Amino acid sequence: MRRARLYRYQVPMDAGVVLRNQRLKSRIGLVVHLEQDDRTGEGEIAPLPGFSLESIDQAESIARLWLTQWAGGNEMSFDGVPPSVAFGLSCALAESDGRMPMSSCWQSVPLCTGDPDLLFDQLSCLPGRKIAKIKVGLYEPIRDSLLVNTLLEALDDLHLRLDANRAWTPDKAASFLRWLNPAVIDRIDFIEEPCGLPTQSLAFAAQSGIPIAWDESSREPGFTLEALPGVAAVIIKPTLTGSLAYCQQRIAGVHQAGMLAVVSSALESSLGLGQLSGLAQQLTPDAPPGLDTLSLMQAQVVRPWPASTLPLLDYADLSLIGVVES
Ligand SMILES: [Mg+2]
Repeated sequence: MRRARLYRYQVPMDAGVVLRNQRLKSRIGLVVHLEQDDRTGEGEIAPLPGFSLESIDQAESIARLWLTQWAGGNEMSFDGVPPSVAFGLSCALAESDGRMPMSSCWQSVPLCTGDPDLLFDQLSCLPGRKIAKIKVGLYEPIRDSLLVNTLLEALDDLHLRLDANRAWTPDKAASFLRWLNPAVIDRIDFIEEPCGLPTQSLAFAAQSGIPIAWDESSREPGFTLEALPGVAAVIIKPTLTGSLAYCQQRIAGVHQAGMLAVVSSALESSLGLGQLSGLAQQLTPDAPPGLDTLSLMQAQVVRPWPASTLPLLDYADLSLIGVVES
């Protein structure tokens, strides 16, 4: 017996969430619930506006078609299925087959918004190496440099990941570097995409000695996985990448090229974040994932993230939009 249920959720976001210059008022996604005989599996399909090429409505119709054929007993593939749909369906399938790693540590690198006291509290709960992430490039470079200096000078075992989302011109990147305390530079693990162009980011890495990481670039056509000088890591966002098997293959490719693969969220709900946590624990045990995005939402979906106090939406709170069974 195969049965699939498809639900739609809509969760209000915090006021300040802006993606590619557009305010994201609410996060809309799908939850797929599979039953195969006595086994079940769940997955989340949540295309990210401004990043995913597929819309939520396209994702929904493709998921319906796939699930109808799956429930009919067909052997299914993810060829040609858009990344968010392939990721969510493959997670649900892997769970129902008992192949999905379950999270046991629920670890994420905390995202620091600039309040050192809050960051110190978050870090004190983390085992192992102390790493935090800071978004840079939103304000003047000097403000970013001073914040990085303050944090690294205050905590001498802290390491930082920075993310500029391609915001800097080469001049702004140079200005960031000018105000940075040289003594703390070696505790910046990497900076994601400092400049508008990959060639400018590579030049910045060479000039500054700060390693860079590819995020946006790694999903662009023509990108090849190779260990260029100054490139330390590749950010893997499974919802923007594809099926579980494809994400595993991608991570293995990054490791083979001698770089760090870092699993990261694309603003999934607590359900997807929990699955990403389990995947990261299994596939990238040496690189804690970047999953600290739940606090941008006003509710959790179906499965709670243990440390969160946000209200939990259960299946009864979601819209059931389809049921297919064999
Ligand atoms: Mg990034």
